[in-house]
Amino acid sequence: MSVGVAILGSTGSIGCSALQVLARQRERFRVVALTAHSNADLLQRQATDWAPGYVGIVNGGRREAGGGMRTGPECLVEAATHPDVQIVVNAIVGAAGLEATLAALRAGKRVALANKETLVMAGELVTRTAREGGGEIVPVDSEHSAVLQCITGRRAGELARLILTASGGPFRTWTPERVAGATVDEALRHPTWKMGKKITVDSASLVNKALEVIEAHFLFGLPYEGVDVVVHPQSVVHAFVEFVDGSVLAQVGFPTMELPILYALTHPDRVPDAGARRFDPVAAGTLTFEPVAAGLYPAYGLGRAAALVGGTAATTFNAANEVAVELFLEGKIRFGRIAETIARVLEGHHATAAASLETVLAADADARRLAREAACS
Ligand code: NDP
Ligand code: MG
Repeated sequence: MSVGVAILGSTGSIGCSALQVLARQRERFRVVALTAHSNADLLQRQATDWAPGYVGIVNGGRREAGGGMRTGPECLVEAATHPDVQIVVNAIVGAAGLEATLAALRAGKRVALANKETLVMAGELVTRTAREGGGEIVPVDSEHSAVLQCITGRRAGELARLILTASGGPFRTWTPERVAGATVDEALRHPTWKMGKKITVDSASLVNKALEVIEAHFLFGLPYEGVDVVVHPQSVVHAFVEFVDGSVLAQVGFPTMELPILYALTHPDRVPDAGARRFDPVAAGTLTFEPVAAGLYPAYGLGRAAALVGGTAATTFNAANEVAVELFLEGKIRFGRIAETIARVLEGHHATAAASLETVLAADADARRLAREAACS
């Protein structure tokens, strides 16, 4: 009996990679539901190829109405809770993925989570919902997949420290002054990964790694002092895991999201994948590691500080960043303004516990409004 999969955000970079993985695993999985935000043409092609029972588009316009596609934002929760779905791949970008993740977890599904913003804005709520609803969160993010692969089979008390790797992005060798004035094209030139625009900008600012530190804290239950980051430009080692006896395991591989996606579907098992590129240490070449240069990535420090404050501070950090990145991509602010905007929004924020959906959504909305004002003033 094959396992039913919903892909939320099937038209994006992770969504398309997930479909490539599933195309090689048709005997194990079947695609039950696909959703997109507004790319109706690609979604329609995917629907033709996969014939899922459910296809939904958030912003479908009039053209799709009645054409077999469900339209409107409620399609995300409908797909995530579809009775024939056992695994929900959440590949939506940004805060828009939160409610579908919560609904899937409440319905007892496995959520293969690429949408890290969900855990950053509402980590307590999401992990509690998983516990109460019987759902399970399995990371798709490569660093977190690496950690999970290293700790599977170990007891929680044996884990001492995580070291997540960061490529350092396209500005690793630049001066802070040059980075502040970087263009959209420059920020989108990621050295090792091909990804959606928002996460590519987050990788240039290292906000992505701050989000991942928070994601790791909620996934693996370690305090923030136990989640370190090292810059590793080759993106071959995805994470190191240190155990209480001092032993360190790492997971390595050429940068591809297909392996972490497959593992999120099959964890704790492994299944053969004929399409996976095999690792070759000689071809991988010299591997180097450097500390994070704080002056080059001010937003990373802001994210770590917000993480330590906890509660709605992390929600605020995420929302302010989402707004600032959008404005940067629209050409309305310069790159340096992203960190400045986040700093200004966090400065005025009084954090509270982020225990309920209402609190999280209110903090998110406030931060978005303040970020728009701060970015453009
Ligand atoms: P993309 O921008 O390529 O894709 C985003 C997907 O989400 C698209 O299918 C898009 O639909 C959909 N979407 C966007 N906004 C909404 C919304 N408001 N409501 C519903 N659906 C929406 O992003 P990526 O695939 O690169 O990233 C997706 C997530 O995975 C992010 O959280 C990212 O941080 C994470 N991630 C990505 C990695 C990567 O390698 N790309 C690696 C690790 C994590 P449409 O196409 O119609 O606009
Ligand atoms: Mg990652």
